[in-house]
Amino acid sequence: MVDFQDNPEPEQPGTGKKKFKFNTLWIYVIVLAAIFGVNFWPGFGSAVEGSWRDVKNKMLPAGDIEKIVVIRNQGIAEIYLKADRVVKYKEKFKSETPSKHGPHFYFKIGSVDQFDKNLSEAQLATPEADKVVPEYEERTDYFGGFMSYIFPLLLIVAFWMFMMRRMSGQNGQGGPGGIFNVGKSKAQLFDKNGTHVKITFNEVAGLEEAKVEVMEIVDFLKNPKRYTDLGGKIPKGALLVGPPGTGKTLLAKAVAGEADVPFFSLSGSDFVEMFVGVGASRVRDLFKRAKEKAPCIIFIDEIDAIGRARGNSNKFNTNDERENTLNQLLTEMDGFGTNSGVIILAATNRADVLDKALLRAGRFDRQILIDLPDIKERAQIFDVHLKGLKLEEGFEREFLAKQTPGFSGADIANVCNEAALIAARKEKSFIQRQDFLDAIDRIVGGLERKNRLISPDEKKTIAFHEAGHATVSWMLEYANPLVKVTIIPRGKALGAAWYLPEERQITTVEQMTHEMAATLGGRASEEMIFGKISTGALNDLERVTKQAYAMVAYYGMSDGLKNMSYFDSSGQSEYFFGKPYSEKTAEQIDIEVKSIVSSTYRLAQEILEKNREGLEKLGNLLLEKEVIFSDDLEGIFGKRNTK
Ligand code: ADP
Repeated sequence: MVDFQDNPEPEQPGTGKKKFKFNTLWIYVIVLAAIFGVNFWPGFGSAVEGSWRDVKNKMLPAGDIEKIVVIRNQGIAEIYLKADRVVKYKEKFKSETPSKHGPHFYFKIGSVDQFDKNLSEAQLATPEADKVVPEYEERTDYFGGFMSYIFPLLLIVAFWMFMMRRMSGQNGQGGPGGIFNVGKSKAQLFDKNGTHVKITFNEVAGLEEAKVEVMEIVDFLKNPKRYTDLGGKIPKGALLVGPPGTGKTLLAKAVAGEADVPFFSLSGSDFVEMFVGVGASRVRDLFKRAKEKAPCIIFIDEIDAIGRARGNSNKFNTNDERENTLNQLLTEMDGFGTNSGVIILAATNRADVLDKALLRAGRFDRQILIDLPDIKERAQIFDVHLKGLKLEEGFEREFLAKQTPGFSGADIANVCNEAALIAARKEKSFIQRQDFLDAIDRIVGGLERKNRLISPDEKKTIAFHEAGHATVSWMLEYANPLVKVTIIPRGKALGAAWYLPEERQITTVEQMTHEMAATLGGRASEEMIFGKISTGALNDLERVTKQAYAMVAYYGMSDGLKNMSYFDSSGQSEYFFGKPYSEKTAEQIDIEVKSIVSSTYRLAQEILEKNREGLEKLGNLLLEKEVIFSDDLEGIFGKRNTK
């Protein structure tokens, strides 16, 4: 799976260059800070706190006081000094040039009566004309009152906003999520204003037929008139079907890159949430957003997460959330006008389980099959991925496609990367052929585990087991050609015989039988050489048994049940409950399978007996060299007789 976010601007570590993001929250913070500042910053108002003692002992006797204002409701007295006396008290003020007007000091008084009494007592000796008579005032603190109401409210609002932001998961960075946005679609939008998809068809190797199909979609979006003028309708959707890693997502990205229209990308599972009704609501939201941006493309990856056939999973008639989501999707796909310019691309590797209603014409009109690449396409994919690599001078790339049958595009990308890592580990300055071979081995077989503890006896068993596979496959003309045999443990396997499977579309009975015989050759060889068998053949036996069942029950290849197939291509048990055959047939299938397995085993035994000498030589050579190649086998058995 590809993450569409592969082009974000990386932040340079250590440079400290972070883009400043303006956030409306800052406005609130600044306003609040200003309010607090005005209210509580000492010295912001001009009066400083004084004391009755200073008034009584210094100011009154010296006649420095112009007037005293008693603010009754606040229990405060304000002292106004005479303009020419302010300097005397300079050191008490915070500012160098205190205001001449005052009030200059304030202090708390106990009660107004008490203050009057104290003032009269302090001025007993003062001549009547010089006496300071206090003025009385009631002063309403509008601001304080206002704040005492508003402040708690502000706090609550701020807290509430904070919580909302947390819950909606936005944090100023956008992007849906959180419980208040459950009904919003999680689709990521790529357009010119935001992240732009830069992939083009050149980066998608092979897939020629698929490319032609999707290029047409690009053309629909670019020149819709050309089609509608002739009365044609632009298709609503295309379904990309194929095994994982074959480039479905890549192709969709390329469509977006080439069409140069907004591109919504999401995965089928993004619709599903634990809340009921959310899926349907997300589908609605997605289409609403898409219609606003039309012409555009919606890409739904892994659509089988919601598009599975309805009915089967819901045997108990409960309200199924997934079904509702699918119904909504079906309705929306029908709901918008054909020419509205919203084209839906969806990808799946299980087209067989999709609901029939989804596949009907008018919804996903086109199914574009994307298969595993063949040898030619693999070579092209290698070319794409080798571009960025530092290869050895004169590197021949032909072997790569040949050595990787059955690999998907993603596997090939992985081989290239792995080869680079292996070369780097060996401290080479370029990548060599052997690094690629090691990478392929590693991807097919897993990590080499040279340190695994294996006793000499076990090693011998493994060597002869693998030699058995090699001998039988060498002698049978329809078996896959052998590449190498190894007894170095890798991943879970203790040894392996590597074949180069032929790329074919149909397989004959002979091919199947010969391959099964080669697979059973391991156990047959153990039995013949040591007279006892081991558990090492588990994987072989499993494969052979499954293959035999498929031959009998699916391909109709047995004599007893000739031309009968119990295969259900819909994967939905459409016509059957449980097994589509009777118990008697089941018994017969078992008998046929047994007979196929035992006859192929006999074939393997016969070949080994005829070539016992060669087998022993091969086993001993394996023990000695650990890895042998087809040339070594040719040395022992002579040229292989192929069909
Ligand atoms: P899918 O969606 O089919 O599972 P992806 O499109 O996610 O597969 O493919 C995964 C990766 O495999 C891609 O990012 C790309 O590197 C590589 N790849 C697959 N197919 C191709 C191809 N045809 N050409 C080039 N690279 C490919």
